[in-house]
This record gives sequence, C-alpha cells and structure tokens, in this order.
Amino acid sequence: MIQVDHALSIIAENISKMPVKKIKVGKSLGFILAEAIYSPIDMPPFRQSAMDGYAFVHSELSTFSVVSSSQAGDYSNLKLGLNEAIRIFTGAYVPDDANTVVMQEHTTATKDSIHIDKLPVPFSNVRNKGEQIEKGKLVLDKNTIITPAAIGFFACLGISEIKVYSKPKIAILVTGNELVKVGKKLPKGKIYESNSVMLEAALKEVGIKKTTIFRVKDNLKATSKMVESCLAHFDVILISGGISVGDYDFVKEALLQNGVEELFYKINQKPGKPLFFGKKEEKLVFALPGNPASSLTCFYVYALPALKKRLGFTDIHLPKMNRKITTNFQNNTGKTLFLKGFYDDDCVTVLESQSSAMLNTFAVANCFIYVPHTVVDIQENHEVQIIPFN
Ligand code: AMP
Ligand code: MG
Repeated sequence: MIQVDHALSIIAENISKMPVKKIKVGKSLGFILAEAIYSPIDMPPFRQSAMDGYAFVHSELSTFSVVSSSQAGDYSNLKLGLNEAIRIFTGAYVPDDANTVVMQEHTTATKDSIHIDKLPVPFSNVRNKGEQIEKGKLVLDKNTIITPAAIGFFACLGISEIKVYSKPKIAILVTGNELVKVGKKLPKGKIYESNSVMLEAALKEVGIKKTTIFRVKDNLKATSKMVESCLAHFDVILISGGISVGDYDFVKEALLQNGVEELFYKINQKPGKPLFFGKKEEKLVFALPGNPASSLTCFYVYALPALKKRLGFTDIHLPKMNRKITTNFQNNTGKTLFLKGFYDDDCVTVLESQSSAMLNTFAVANCFIYVPHTVVDIQENHEVQIIPFN
C-alpha cells in the first residue's frame, strides 16, 4: 500500500503524451496544441478604420470637402489634399495619405463637406497594419488549450489546420454479476449499474466525448478475454469493480495474465483504497473500486490527471484552495481522506454520509476536503485544503 502523493508521482512519471495529428481548426476545440503557431500574415493586413467617420490628414483645419467614400471590403487609395476627407466605415482601407479618422458623431455634415466639431488627436481611430499580430510572430504556443477564441484567432489569420495531441480511445469495462442496466426491471438481489454512465460523464468534462462500454460477469476467463480485447483496441481502460480481495474479484489476475505491468495497487486513502494502476506499453489501465463514490473519487484524483497528461496538458495537478472548516473534525483512520464537502467564499462544511458506497452527498458536494493521513485533529475555523470540482 502506498501513500497518495507517491501514487500521484508514479502517474506523473509514467505517462507519455498521445501521438500528434493534424486537425481542421474548426474541429480543434478542447484539444492541446502540439506545435507553436506563427502568423502567416499581418493582422490587420492593412490600415483599417476603427470607426464610421471620415479619414483625413490631421491638421488645424476643421472643414473638409468629402471627395470619396470607402466601405469595409473596398480598396481605394486616393491621394488626399490637406482640406479633403473621405467618408469611411469601420473595417475599411484607410488611404495611405490619411493618418486620422474622426468619428461621425464628432462632425456636422453638409452636402459635400464636413465640419469637425471635436478634433481627435493625430492617428486616432486607425488600426495599424499588424497591430494585433505581425507576420511571423507567435500566435499561440505549443501546449495551449484550444478555446473558441483561439479558434477565431487562427481563422482570422487564415490558418485552417493545426497539429494537436490526439485524444485517447477509452474503454470502460464494468464487472459485476449483480448489475442491471438502467431501464430494465430490477430482479431481487440485483442493483442498477451506475458507474459506467458516471465515468462516461466525467470523461466528457475533459473533452472525451466518445467512450465504449463493455460489461463482463465475475468470471476470470471472461474478464481476461475482455481485457485482452480492450488492450488491443483502446489507449486507456477504466475498469469498474472486481479489484478488491473478495472471492469473485478477478480483475487484477486478468490484467496480470495479459501482461499489464502493475505500477501500484492499493492506496492509503478513504474512500478508494483498492485502486490498481498499470501499463502495457503506452496503454494505461485503471482498475477502479466498484463502490460508486470510491470509483468517482479515484477517477478524479488519479485517472483524470493521467488522462490530462496523455492529452497534452502541462498542468495536470488537481487545483487546491484553502477554506476554514465549519466544525471540529477527527481523522482516526491513519489514512488520507477525500471528504465530500460544500464550500463558499469563506468556509467549507463536511457533508454528512461519507460512505464509499453512496453518491447521495457526492451529488450535492462541490469539493473534496483533503485531509492528509498525518493529520488527526482539525479545529473548527482552521484552514483546510479543498479540491473544487469545477
Ligand atoms: P466490487 O469492487 O466489485 O467488490 O464492488 C463493490 C461494491 O460496489 C458492491 O456493492 C457492488 O455491487 C458495487 N458496484 C460495483 N460495480 C458497480 C457499478 N458499476 N455500479 C454500481 N455499483 C457497483
Ligand atoms: Mg464486484
């Protein structure tokens, strides 16, 4: 049995990033950039008007004849006399001669001329060529997560394809004779199978939209065959249940039979002690405890950072914050605790019912309260570390 920090360091050291692939920018939301991208153009590509108004050569003059008009998309590069202006609209090409745009709200227009009521300072309301980014400059660096704004930024520079880390193919393998699919009648002695949909949803939170779910009875041969097939077709396998020490827990044996190398098994924590993490080549296997709250705790604390590493994230650690605890708390277990808690701007409250078999408090919790195994007494109002879920 190992401590939580040791298990986390084993994860951080043993996981490589997924292979790099080219992808259309429009399909890259949530991926991690696997290359630094440099701008192929100046943006803006030309001097643009930032306002609807009039472009002119700045001077002390206040009356101008309006000699032409230019809307966004037009290209006219008129020579302007000192007392000449052109009508111009937002986004339009500013003639090379003009250095300033006055917004139309600061002018009075007559038929063919304008009077500037409020003279702007020179160079106002003109977006310079390359003002946002110059050709050849860094657009976004390697390892940046692609957001909607990043997609827009690439598109406005005419970039259509980028290299990202591909997403792992993930299998969820559910074990347990007692499990019945939601939607079916519940026979005596059985329970509804809830871990697969829960883990599938948790994977969606990190942008993994597609997972494949398999089910197997508590039987060594069947489990071993299923593990073999999952190892052949998937990059990451999350197994639910069958990893404890009962007579019908066959997962560990099935993994070892298939050449999965054990990197750790059992962690000094509550909930989620019987967690197995192993590897076969670059393929990762997490055998999560069957108890639903243990399963999800182990997913968040261990499988999620591992997946983030595989996806190319540089910061894979769970974010921690400090809050004052609202009650005294005793940890007599000698284990690290991940308690379900509810925090606000100031405090955190330990929720009732911390059973590893139950999701009732997990469903309303918004954080774990992290209590290291070395901490026994926590006094009300003292700061504790929390791990927020969002
Ligand atoms: P196990 O780790 O297989 O011994 O399972 C521990 C407990 O979790 C047992 O009470 C199981 O019935 C329950 N359990 C296991 N797998 C699931 C699942 N997929 N959905 C809901 N409960 C489960
Ligand atoms: Mg079981």
